[in-house]
Amino acid sequence: MAEEATNNDNSVQDQWGQICSQLKTEVGETAFDSWLKPLTLGSFSDGVMNICVPTRFMRSWVVTHYSDRIHKIWEKKNPAIKNVNFIVQSVQDGAHGLYSPTDRSLMKRVVSTPTPQRMYQSGINNLFANNNESAMNDSLSVPLNPQYTFDNFVVGKTNEFAYAAARKVAESRNISFNPLFLYSGVGLGKTHLMHAIAWHIKQQDPSRNIVYLSAEKFMYKFVRALRYKDTTAFKEQFRSVDVLMVDDVQFMGGKDTTQEEFFYTFNSLIEEGRQIIISADKSPADLEGIETRLKSRLGCGLVADIHPTDFDLRMGILNSKARQLGIELPERVAEFLAQKISSNIRELEGALRRVIAHSQLLSDKEITLDMTQDVLKDMLRSFDKRTTIDEIQKKVAEHFNISVKEMQSSRRARTVARPRQIAMYLAKQLTSRSLPEIGRKFDRDHTTVMHAVRKVEELILEDASLAENIDALRRTLEA
Ligand code: ADP
Ligand code: MG
Repeated sequence: MAEEATNNDNSVQDQWGQICSQLKTEVGETAFDSWLKPLTLGSFSDGVMNICVPTRFMRSWVVTHYSDRIHKIWEKKNPAIKNVNFIVQSVQDGAHGLYSPTDRSLMKRVVSTPTPQRMYQSGINNLFANNNESAMNDSLSVPLNPQYTFDNFVVGKTNEFAYAAARKVAESRNISFNPLFLYSGVGLGKTHLMHAIAWHIKQQDPSRNIVYLSAEKFMYKFVRALRYKDTTAFKEQFRSVDVLMVDDVQFMGGKDTTQEEFFYTFNSLIEEGRQIIISADKSPADLEGIETRLKSRLGCGLVADIHPTDFDLRMGILNSKARQLGIELPERVAEFLAQKISSNIRELEGALRRVIAHSQLLSDKEITLDMTQDVLKDMLRSFDKRTTIDEIQKKVAEHFNISVKEMQSSRRARTVARPRQIAMYLAKQLTSRSLPEIGRKFDRDHTTVMHAVRKVEELILEDASLAENIDALRRTLEA
């Protein structure tokens, strides 16, 4: 029986190919890319088909969620396959010894295109190592997160511009904007987009030397070079960089010597036509403690900001994450999470993870609204503690030079109505109060609050300066 399966190696590989495409339709592209694409075909003997999984974590996930299905489909296609076994074997090992010599003569190694997961496993540091200066460059770049890809990035109204800009930079051979400057509040996807650009470029052209690092790391490396009087070597490291990404440059604020060095590196790379991508928590002009000439240099390419999420995007992200994890997330639970946790995506993901962990590990019970509320009780309470509606009213009123009384009054003049709507919007975003609860604080009903939230969401998209004002308010309130 075993011979039947192995002698005709093409058929086993073909079958695996067919199984993969079937699974892709069944589980969706994102889940497929995360969990199933990294699998490679191993050896076959005694009716057992071995499938290689790069890590232990992935193995346990695949075994729990997909092994039965894979076994069933395969058994149907080829009765010689009695069982499917998953073994942990990293791609590094695999590149030389996926199959025993005998197997290898029977089956060609399944050749696959590089995916972030595969590249990750094949030693991310090597990916960025420059052959000449590998000792230095090895530690210059920080590993990329294999989950931070364009495929895993959910696009909505609030981030579509930044997404389009990132894609453009990743896809074009010629430099279109230099630098690309991405900015937003925390947890809204800047780092995700930068990694996605890096993965994309690497996939298109593995020879390009991409360096991704945080501004803090840049600073640390530079200060160390100063200490060891080795700044020439430090500079040298950047010479061969094709794409330089520096995350969170606001951390360079007030660090004058680092800025100067960065300015130098920046200019010489731009002059040589290398791509630079920068992120920060504010627009170039608003960065604090950054020299004027550097600010203007940072802003001279394309500046793209990511706005705070809206409800639709939060729903999209929750559903996409749930799909990726192969979880059934009831609509009501998703709505609850999307409504309550609006501050940033990292927290939204954290909440979802907590709910899933609770349902799977502790009790293996179904995810319900009650259970979600219960599991997140502390988290929601701490959100409430963070900001109160009173505080929001006070800060927003101050900002627009009106009194809190006016804000709560029935006056409809725009000078009062707009700040009121903004305060309602922020109350919805920053607290876990319900619409009626917020309404009561403004002496209005919940439909007015709902209308205000929608209105402000629209305004944010239309009016960049208002969006910045609101974002600044949010930051002060969250501080
Ligand atoms: P920032 O760098 O702006 O602080 P991150 O890029 O670290 O934010 O994003 C925080 C988390 O939210 C990450 O886990 C990221 O994958 C996720 N995330 C952000 N934006 C999106 C999006 N549009 N779709 C899916 N996940 C997202
Ligand atoms: Mg970040």
